[in-house]
Amino acid sequence: MTRFVESTITFPYKRSLGPVTGAFMTALTEKRILGIRCHDRVLVPPMEWDPATGEELPHELVEVGPVATVESWTWVPVPSEQHPLGHPFAFAFLRLDGASTPLLHAVDAGTPGDMHAGMRVAPRWRGTRAGRIDDIICFVPGETPTTEGEETGGAVEPVTRMDYLASITYRNPVPEAADRATEASRDRRLLGLHCPVCGEVYAGGKGYCPIDSIELGPECEVDLPHTGTITNFAIVTPVPYPGQTETEPFVRAFVLLDGTDVIIPYAAVIELPADQIRVGQRVAAVWASPAEEIEDGGGMGGTWGSLLGWIPSGEPGIDDPALVNRIF
Ligand SMILES: [Zn+2]
Repeated sequence: MTRFVESTITFPYKRSLGPVTGAFMTALTEKRILGIRCHDRVLVPPMEWDPATGEELPHELVEVGPVATVESWTWVPVPSEQHPLGHPFAFAFLRLDGASTPLLHAVDAGTPGDMHAGMRVAPRWRGTRAGRIDDIICFVPGETPTTEGEETGGAVEPVTRMDYLASITYRNPVPEAADRATEASRDRRLLGLHCPVCGEVYAGGKGYCPIDSIELGPECEVDLPHTGTITNFAIVTPVPYPGQTETEPFVRAFVLLDGTDVIIPYAAVIELPADQIRVGQRVAAVWASPAEEIEDGGGMGGTWGSLLGWIPSGEPGIDDPALVNRIF
């Protein structure tokens, strides 16, 4: 039974909206929906350029709706957390009165049986609006717009930027060898795997030989030394993002273990200021006490179970330019 580790990367950023989308978003804060005149048509949402020719359009914005006609729809029976409503709803192409093109939005109709092409729907506005498309929570059957929550009015200033939150959640399988390496670390053992074919020794965790493509099981396990030499490093200056707990520059180093070809990548370095680290620095493993067990990262990166990181051993550094090229 394979174990998985779930991870989420979140990346927030801001986007400038430009004169046309900015005007559209600003109007939403005033409970108005704008289109743009494109020859004899009205495009909703408005675009800066004619989608047929690429020609720039004059900024001739016209108010449309707020009531719309459903052109087509699809039912969402099990909404995800990224959907606009927490219960089943329809995504629909809605042609707002006065518009030539449909706007994609949600319709809260109750059941698929209550949806049909040609039905009339009106916006359900948010009481507090920020200049986003979800200032309209959804559309509801009927001709009368409604507002949910306390009405707090429109924008004080034009909306020129929009916050985005790109996010992805993924699952990685954890090889059994990674679990064995983590378990061994609780006994302060640094597990390696010796390939019987090529004779190479690898840091424990992957469970296979990348040269011979064979599985390396428990019978291949060896103990690795707890001392080594830094071959490469990066000084990471943390920028604030969701989940970032570091505030000061910190080091991730590559450590070549003594008497082996094993490199521990992206290892944490402890009690060594970032501006003092150098290639050739001698280091020794630091282990967590049982009381300070650290979160199991599934053997990813340079942290395994109880291995906290690497600390200067006090020995003189090694002056060997070849170390710089040792990264794997
Ligand atoms: Zn091999």
